Amino acid sequence: MSRARPSLLALALVAGACGPAEVPRPSVLLVSIDTLRADHVGLYGYGRDTTPFLDRLGAEGLVFENAFTPAAWTLVAHMTMLTGLNPKQHGVDRAEHALSPEAPLLAERLRAAGYQTLGFYRPGWIHPRHGFERGFDVFRAHQTVEEAEAHLAEELARRSPARPTFTFLHLFDVHNDPSSHAPPAPFSAPPPYQDLFLPGARARLAGETYLTLKKKPRLTAEEREALTSLYDDGIRHVDAGLERIFRRLEEGGWLANTLVVVTSDHGESLAQRGNKLTGHGGPWQEGVHVPLIVRLPDRARAGQRVSEPAHLIDVPQTVLDFTGLGPDPGLPGHSLLDPLPAVRVLAGGDDPAEFYVRWPEKATRYNERIGVFDLEQDPLEQAPRELSAADFEALRQGLGPQGLRAFAPVPAAELTPEERRELEALGYGGAVDEDEDH
Ligand SMILES: [Zn+2]
Repeated sequence: MSRARPSLLALALVAGACGPAEVPRPSVLLVSIDTLRADHVGLYGYGRDTTPFLDRLGAEGLVFENAFTPAAWTLVAHMTMLTGLNPKQHGVDRAEHALSPEAPLLAERLRAAGYQTLGFYRPGWIHPRHGFERGFDVFRAHQTVEEAEAHLAEELARRSPARPTFTFLHLFDVHNDPSSHAPPAPFSAPPPYQDLFLPGARARLAGETYLTLKKKPRLTAEEREALTSLYDDGIRHVDAGLERIFRRLEEGGWLANTLVVVTSDHGESLAQRGNKLTGHGGPWQEGVHVPLIVRLPDRARAGQRVSEPAHLIDVPQTVLDFTGLGPDPGLPGHSLLDPLPAVRVLAGGDDPAEFYVRWPEKATRYNERIGVFDLEQDPLEQAPRELSAADFEALRQGLGPQGLRAFAPVPAAELTPEERRELEALGYGGAVDEDEDH
């Protein structure tokens, strides 16, 4: 997609010291909406009007219809999103792991190229403990999208839109409630979004939290309906917040020459399998099919829908490509601005789950259970074909990431008792959401 990229001449002019002919590199805004399933987003076909703003944004850019996260776990997925490394390469797949100092983060690469680098995150699994702050001039925590908006405004006021800027914005309001609100609820969008899609939904689940619902062997149809509506309320809340944030950025001149990428780290089960609430959806599509929108500064390729499978490993490569730094041949992903390979194998999983996608087939292992699904014929993964353990092993050996460097993680700093309590309240019983069975 060369037309919208900076020309080589322009890049040559900015490669050295600043001069009168300087053409700035484009800025980058990367938004991660935590816990957002693709199929609950309007531009991915959802029936409810959850995302009027994202739908418009998607119409102005490229929409990747079949984008995958490597794991339905915030820590693993974001480390991939921000390094471009597969989980087996970055190795940050346990609460005790932090990124190797030898593995570069996207923010480090961009700062070295002269970017202002701003990170806004909701703490939990995204935390300096795991190395996420590396490369950011500012790495600032918030709780809500409203607080993130205020922090963004404060930090940008101290900087110039004339300098290239990398902004990472992580929003957590779709995620289940950490139960710090009173009264507690599984998902807690504030008014006027609360009960927007189903009046009385919150009252229907009065006294229940995400954890109490998770402990039930199965939810009733009424509970599932209310749970899903409360989840959708949170999506609309974040969508409205993003609309305000984008308006503010636009007015400040921050989007004039900016690549925008909006995606998510994983989905949510919503008790879709056997009416059992299991967490973020495991290796199944409700867990690993994420939205992915790429908007170019001049709205080039607006409205284009890309059906070839994409993956969060592609996000850093796309940014490196578009900013003129060049894709890194040491990374496994592809620039999303180039044609994606028609035949491509994408991998993911965190123990005890593992999956491989060679569109439209997806081979999934969950503990000892192995199956192959055709995602075009069976998008809800209801009718697996059998696959033997030996055949799955052959698939793993033959199709998994090969020949790329893997980094040994380093120990992460200990959680404080308060941090541990909050992660438990969010539904994480241990290193991983321990009960992802379907
Ligand atoms: Zn997450």
